[in-house]
Amino acid sequence: MQSLGKESEAAIKKDQRYLWHNITPYSEQSPPMIAASASGSWVTDVDGNKYLDGMSGLWCVNVGYGRKELAEAAYNQLLSLPYFPLTQSHMPAIALAEKLNEWLEGDYVIFFSNSGSEANEAAFKIVRQYHQQTGQHYRSKLIARYRGYHGSSLGALSATGQAQRKYKYEPLAAGFLHVAPPDSYRRPAGMTVEAFNLQCAQAIEDTIVWEGAETVAAVIMEPVITGGGVIVPEQIYLDRVQEICRKYGVLLIMDEVICGFGRSGRKFGHQNFGIKPDIVTMAKGLTSAYLPLSATAVRKDIYEAFKDSSDGYGHFRHVNTFGGNPAACALALCNLEIMEQEQLVERADILGQRLYSGLSGLLDHKLVGDIRSFGLILGIELVADKATRQPAGLDTVKGIIADCKAKGLIIGKNGDTVAGFNNVLTLAPPLSSTDSDIQFIVDTLTAVLNGSW
Ligand code: PLP
Repeated sequence: MQSLGKESEAAIKKDQRYLWHNITPYSEQSPPMIAASASGSWVTDVDGNKYLDGMSGLWCVNVGYGRKELAEAAYNQLLSLPYFPLTQSHMPAIALAEKLNEWLEGDYVIFFSNSGSEANEAAFKIVRQYHQQTGQHYRSKLIARYRGYHGSSLGALSATGQAQRKYKYEPLAAGFLHVAPPDSYRRPAGMTVEAFNLQCAQAIEDTIVWEGAETVAAVIMEPVITGGGVIVPEQIYLDRVQEICRKYGVLLIMDEVICGFGRSGRKFGHQNFGIKPDIVTMAKGLTSAYLPLSATAVRKDIYEAFKDSSDGYGHFRHVNTFGGNPAACALALCNLEIMEQEQLVERADILGQRLYSGLSGLLDHKLVGDIRSFGLILGIELVADKATRQPAGLDTVKGIIADCKAKGLIIGKNGDTVAGFNNVLTLAPPLSSTDSDIQFIVDTLTAVLNGSW
């Protein structure tokens, strides 16, 4: 049983005084875990307690913790060239952009930033300017989905479809519209999964038509909604979305911030569906979060339109001081090489299937309404009532997470307290997890749910 010791108690006092945490409200009852070191899939806190990180941090430490090669790649680069702006160029950025193009299996040009939010902000400006560059002056609107998350900066938050994240920060950027996601578990009674997925895709076409296609710039979506509750679409949904975008000249942006870099069992999530996005945004797994780096990959012919500068403003007037830092690029390249050498993309698929089959017995549990997986991402939807599918209360969800933590397992949850959906437990362990790590997750979660719940 993990418990707080003297080291934590002292650090927590200072933490409480000086540190403002991301999203988590400060709670005396459940103080933060103060991490000291990590290796593989395991994190050790300042008291020496060990936890299996079933969320890879925030869905990002894809190659696992403690990779010396990554530290060395960054160190060596810092010694030779620690910084140079990408208003000009440097070799690590060039090499990484080439490598990303290979991973994307397409013809893309890469713009570097530091975070997923920034990668999406760049994408929004690129699609708006692209349409201006090509004489389509009214195309400014973006369509996203409810329950999707695209970042915390004002534009990315505007694209986000989770009410609780926006509450008290509105009004946000204008021109962002939302449609329902293909949440098949909550489809109307009597409707087939396929018909429901088609209906959800149709909502995108209807929105484009009602708004006036000539005013819509792009659709943004994750291949699979991850943090919003692991909502996995049918193939037919994404086929139809791509078809609709092409029909109306609307660009398709795939947010691969979580699904990218092997997490889905393919290099990028959209490759599972054979989709060819116009723009792909990525972050997290790009460096396995060892250093900040993100990228906006843009179809080459879209990039070409920015070469027409007849009005003096044709180029992309967007600068990011730290974006594409040489050490971060060198580290990212090394990170991709590790994934290739250790076949971690393929391993994610194998481990994902193992995790699903290990946990699928929980479908009989009275609190478990649905279990969904995509590569090495798993969501367990908790319900108060299986017949009505009423979401389980927040106390239940938090209680299960706390019980797992007490047994040394960190798991996550989605969260939209305003809309009432905070009932999906999430798992996304490192792609390098061992077989026994996966077994530990299965055994611990099963013991917790079958124990006191
Ligand atoms: N897009 C998706 C799908 C995400 O999950 C996130 C972060 O969780 C972001 C964008 C924003 O990334 P960042 O937190 O690096 O700004």
